[in-house]
Amino acid sequence: MSTYTPMIQQYLAVKEQAKDAFLFFRLGDFYEMFFDDAINASRELEITLTGRDGGTDHKIPMCGVPHHSAENYISRLVEKGYKVAVCEQVEDPAASKGVVRREIVRIITPGTVMETKSLEGKTNNFIVSVVNANGMLGLSACDLSTGELYVTSVPEQLEALIDEINVYQPAEIVGDSDLMDELQGAAVWNRQLMLTAREPMEQDKLQQHFKPGELDGLSEARLLAVSVLTGYLDETQKRSLGHVQTISSYEPNQYMILDHYTRRNLELTETVRDRSKKGSLLWLLDRTQTSMGARMLRRWIDKPLLSKSVIDARLDAVEELYRNLILREDIRSELQPIYDLERLVGRVAFGSANGRDLNALKSSLRRIPGLAALCGQSGSEMLRALVAGVDDCADLADMIDTVIVEEPPVTIREGGLIRAGYDAYLDQLREASTNGKRWLAELERQEREATGIKSLKIGYNKVFGYFLEVSKSNLSMLPEGRYERKQTLANAERFVTPELKEKERLILEAEDKMVDLEYEKFIELRDHLSLHLHRLQRAAVIIAEIDAYQSLAHVSAERRFSRPQINEAYDLQIEDGRHPVVEAMMDGTPFIANGTSLRKGDQWMLLITGPNMAGKSTYMRQVALICIMAQIGCFVPAKSAVIPLIDRIFTRIGAADDLIGGQSTFMVEMKDIQIMTEKASASSLVIIDELGRGTSTGEGMAIAQAVIEYVHHHIGCKALVSTHFHELAHLEDSLPALANARMAVEESGDNVTFLRKLISGAASTSYGIYCAQLAGLPQSIIGRAYELLDGAEHASPPAPIQAAGNPASSIEAVAETAASYEPTAALSASATVVQLSIFDEPAHAATQDQSKRKVSPKAELLAEQLRKLDLFNLTPMQAMQWLNDMKSKL
Ligand code: ADP
Repeated sequence: MSTYTPMIQQYLAVKEQAKDAFLFFRLGDFYEMFFDDAINASRELEITLTGRDGGTDHKIPMCGVPHHSAENYISRLVEKGYKVAVCEQVEDPAASKGVVRREIVRIITPGTVMETKSLEGKTNNFIVSVVNANGMLGLSACDLSTGELYVTSVPEQLEALIDEINVYQPAEIVGDSDLMDELQGAAVWNRQLMLTAREPMEQDKLQQHFKPGELDGLSEARLLAVSVLTGYLDETQKRSLGHVQTISSYEPNQYMILDHYTRRNLELTETVRDRSKKGSLLWLLDRTQTSMGARMLRRWIDKPLLSKSVIDARLDAVEELYRNLILREDIRSELQPIYDLERLVGRVAFGSANGRDLNALKSSLRRIPGLAALCGQSGSEMLRALVAGVDDCADLADMIDTVIVEEPPVTIREGGLIRAGYDAYLDQLREASTNGKRWLAELERQEREATGIKSLKIGYNKVFGYFLEVSKSNLSMLPEGRYERKQTLANAERFVTPELKEKERLILEAEDKMVDLEYEKFIELRDHLSLHLHRLQRAAVIIAEIDAYQSLAHVSAERRFSRPQINEAYDLQIEDGRHPVVEAMMDGTPFIANGTSLRKGDQWMLLITGPNMAGKSTYMRQVALICIMAQIGCFVPAKSAVIPLIDRIFTRIGAADDLIGGQSTFMVEMKDIQIMTEKASASSLVIIDELGRGTSTGEGMAIAQAVIEYVHHHIGCKALVSTHFHELAHLEDSLPALANARMAVEESGDNVTFLRKLISGAASTSYGIYCAQLAGLPQSIIGRAYELLDGAEHASPPAPIQAAGNPASSIEAVAETAASYEPTAALSASATVVQLSIFDEPAHAATQDQSKRKVSPKAELLAEQLRKLDLFNLTPMQAMQWLNDMKSKL
């Protein structure tokens, strides 16, 4: 190391503090990277890799980016999941002896970006911390750009922690190293995730960060979670974060619990197929006018409520805006020009707000009185209470107005920011500078007159300052003496005079002072605003909430939703329900409404049969979505609805991409079912699509039956189960709370028309072969399948399993039953045939007499496999997979 130049030595010392980040090392107008950082950055950013002498035999790899465009490069690296440490010169190079002092001023990580370019306006960017404290897992989440800080805890169970983490969809997680390892292995994340192990910060420092009392009453796990997060923000941001001050502590069971799969399958905030917002529930409901409103609405969808009174209050506000179109439109137009106050406040606190940001803040604050007046006159108590005594921060808006000009520049370092009349000394300096310029114009006129050179002019450049310029042809006209030559150009000479020098000094001094003073005044204003962050944040939250209400009301009115009645008892009753998103995405074809009645004294489980594509899963999802919509306080797509407080929705709905995994899909399904058996309560809603589909018919059917019986006997929650095993219809006879339902179809000849109407009773056939036909399987296979089906028609379904006495032992009972169940003769071959072992041709097949073959060995092999194929024991999906495999072998 000693052979390196002092600057490289300094670089290496700084790099030690940011080993896991790209170090942007400031050298003049560039940020340079060295060694491996340079090699990797040149690859990631596609910039040229060069080398630099560093005192050793070989050149040191180096690459760099201009400092003025660094933000762009930094966000590209951060978006790719890297950290970037920015190292600046922290002393004036002119004043320093030796190498100028440099320090890391900030580390930018995926969870801590503040730059507008990298932030999606309508989405929060959360960083989450997790800790394990004596059997409790603490979790804290912060959006640094808005200052929100949440904390909660769950009993020591990874699934519960993951469910809670998923609420925030964080870009980055920090915390205990053991937990980081476990989370790394869990791999259920929607997005690329950065995991960093970190310890809590020192207790004293933590106390200093927050207002007195803010940490009081937090449990150990929560306190530690906040501590790890605050410590990490402190370490990376290296500045006080005045906007991250208020801690919202909550219990996970204050909200409906939605696990990762359920959120995904119900497409709450993004679609399964391409993870886009379009096609999700959020997309449908988001008619907000401001980014803060959009983020709040998203949080509501992520956390449906469980308190009837709070839901009713939200529904009241929505109803008022639903009914009163004029009020809604007025509110919408007041909201429309409001900027992202939360993030503006974040930038004020962070010290990165410029003049334009402050003006945006001002003009947004100016909207509050109008908005408050509208809500204050409304018929909704909720809206009136929200704006009662609202602090419109008029003093702050006025102050910005007095200080900042109408159209300030982007930069705050070059003047042009502060209004005339705000500061007397600044006005004087401005006067001096303008006068100076007038004096120069006068001097130019005088010099022209004195010398008779009409083209003589006064100019300015950064190196020589002000000068008199005379073209070469006129030089002879210039008198001797006063003129001091400064610069020679191709066809002109530049001179200065003592008067010009003196005036130059005055003008430049005034301008320098002006710029410094403007900067100082700007910072003074920004610092003053920093003292009122909490007031500004409060105003932002009120605006966001009004915006979320109007958005829900707007969609509800537009899409003819109706107000649900929230029921604290068990029953759920939906009349003419619709799937809000499928309906919205349909082009012209009407959506067929279907009712749902799940009631304690009656039936609360539906077993839905019917062909593929009939509308089973749309129907089941629609029930789940209606419950979620009701519990966030939105109207619902139904003629009328009575919705109970659902504590958890559990779904197992195979998405297309899950269907292909064969055995592993089955394992995943069973694991999910296991979690359901453990977590679901009588107040939950269970939705299972194609239960038992991942294994052979015999086993699949047995497991499906056992699971249904378990839910019926031991959980008692509302459940919608679809199955292609129409043989399970007999369960209706032994399970009083279960009713059969099917999607109606109309058959004529070979054609089936889907009527999309849910009717009672079970489907007589699963239409699996029909589906295979639709998928284009050769007619010979289809014909053979019908033949086999006819032969197997007599197969009798398994006998019902009696209720087990002890709920705890029942899941074992399920497994046992599944294992000991003896399939009837027609089903018995299933287990061996279904799995794609059909392609493992027995060794002796190859040794058969080849000479007798008239057809190619490949065709023979395929024919053989086709003969062996037990179609009756395949699900439609397996049939398609088989066909696909077959095709790939050709
Ligand atoms: P299944 O689960 O029975 O295979 P889906 O629920 O996936 O069937 O429905 C298939 C398609 O039918 C959906 O993509 C949707 O376009 C249409 N569909 C479903 N339900 C309805 C309905 N009630 N009204 C109109 N179209 C519907």
